[in-house]
This record gives sequence, C-alpha cells and structure tokens, in this order.
Amino acid sequence: MDDSKRIQNIKVLMYHRVLAEKPKKVSQWHYVTLAEFRKQMQMIERLGFTPITFADYQLFLEGKLTLPQRPIIITFDDGYLDTLENAIPVLLELNMRAVIFVMGNRNLNYAGWDQLDEPEECPLMSDDQIRSVQEMGFEIGAHSLNHVSLTDLTEGEIAYEVYRSKEILENIIEKPILTFSYPYGCVDERVTKVVSNSGFLFGCGVFTGSAMFSETMMDFRRLAVNQYTSFLKFLITLILPYQYIEWAYYNVKNRLKTPAQLDHQEDLRTQSTNGNSKDSNFDMHKIFNSH
Ligand SMILES: [Zn+2]
Repeated sequence: MDDSKRIQNIKVLMYHRVLAEKPKKVSQWHYVTLAEFRKQMQMIERLGFTPITFADYQLFLEGKLTLPQRPIIITFDDGYLDTLENAIPVLLELNMRAVIFVMGNRNLNYAGWDQLDEPEECPLMSDDQIRSVQEMGFEIGAHSLNHVSLTDLTEGEIAYEVYRSKEILENIIEKPILTFSYPYGCVDERVTKVVSNSGFLFGCGVFTGSAMFSETMMDFRRLAVNQYTSFLKFLITLILPYQYIEWAYYNVKNRLKTPAQLDHQEDLRTQSTNGNSKDSNFDMHKIFNSH
C-alpha cells in the first residue's frame, strides 16, 4: 500500500479506564476490563497493526521516521492511575506504545469533574507517575486544565485552559507537548484556533473530525472503546473502515436532528412573537444556511 493510502486509513482508538475487574454496580465510567483490554491488544498485534504516537507521526511528516505497514494510534483520556497500573504493563509486554492525555490542573487527584458518586475511586496519575510513563516511551498529551467543555467558554477562558495546561505539563515532562484532547470531544473552530495558536500540532476530538486520518489535524476523529464495545464490534472496528461508517452514521443522525431542532426554535419564536410568520420564515432561512 502506498504511503498516502496507508495514512488516510490510520485509526485512532480512544480508551478511558482499564479496570482490573468489572465494577459490581453499573459504572458511571467508561471502562474496559483488564482481560478485555489484553484480548483487544493481542488482536491488534495478531492483525499486524503497529501502534504509533502522534509524536511519531510528526517525525514521519518531517521525513525522520518511516511508518510501519499498518499503523494505529491508541489513546487514553484523563490520565487515570489505572492507565499506568493496568494498561501500560500489557502495552509494554506487547511492545506497544500509546498516547495518554492528562489534566493540566495538578491539584486534581481524582476524576471528580462530573460530580459523580465516589470520585475517590478514580485516582489520577501524579506528576512523578506522568514523568515515568513518558520515560517508558509513551506520549503525554494535554486534556485542558479542569476538564470543562471548551465550547462553552469565552475565548480568553479557552486560551487559559489550553495554554496553561501545555505549560504546566511541559514543565513536568521537560519536553514539548504536541497533542491536545478536547474534554467531552467538544470542539469548534474557536477552540481549534486557540489550540493551534498555543503551539499544539494535533488535536483529538471524538465525533467531529474527518473520517480520513490527518485531513483535520486539529480534530482527529477517534473510535471509542469501552464497556459497550463487544469483542465482535472491536474486531469490526479494526478490520472494516469503521471510522467512515461512524462518520456517515453521525452525519445522517445530525441531518435528521436538524428539522426537529428547527421546529423547536420555530415554536419558541412563535411564542415570543405571537406567531409573526414573516419573521419566522426569515430566521428559518438563516438557520438553514448556517447548517
Ligand atoms: Zn476526558
């Protein structure tokens, strides 16, 4: 396969927690069990994929590295302690590398940002642990300071979350941080602009970017792997061009959603303007054009 085709088809997987055992009650977290994770990584190896990092990809762009025959990128969000304790030993055993996105706010010892029960069950990695993960050859990326949805913030607030997280984490690992992962996958043009202006080379979203790898360098689309991913689905994700299937699915879903949203807006407007249909039609036209 020639280089450009190979690159277009690179898949980026997104993991969160890797738990030693299945939680006793329904989990609020996105996780896979250690046994599932091991099986998934073994399958990646068996199918001939070689995990690379975004830093490797940058070296490739600079002409300093040749990409393996079947590259794939494995990412972990949030910087959980279980990434270090459960996922990394498996990855090291199989000689695999990954990209790990950690929080810039170093006072966050637990993943308590969603105000879920028992955040203390979700410890995050310490500075020293992040440093040691980096030294083992894993890429450390930034995941904002406080895990807030950046699209809800003002430009100044976005800049603070993005730039400060880069600065703080670079001080810890004493290396440039190249890649940013958007909390909750929330990203728009304002956000990508700030991330790019802050010196990041790559941005990772979830559902928004192009299905084609590297077409949107500031919004790489990722394929989520969690407790809802059966082994069959994982296999399909690897074997088929699943990123294109998901892309098409979300596109259709959004298109179907649009008329309902418009109806809703129309209802609200009708209430506030006592049914002035001329104004409503004008706004409808504007909304259609903006989609
Ligand atoms: Zn996150």
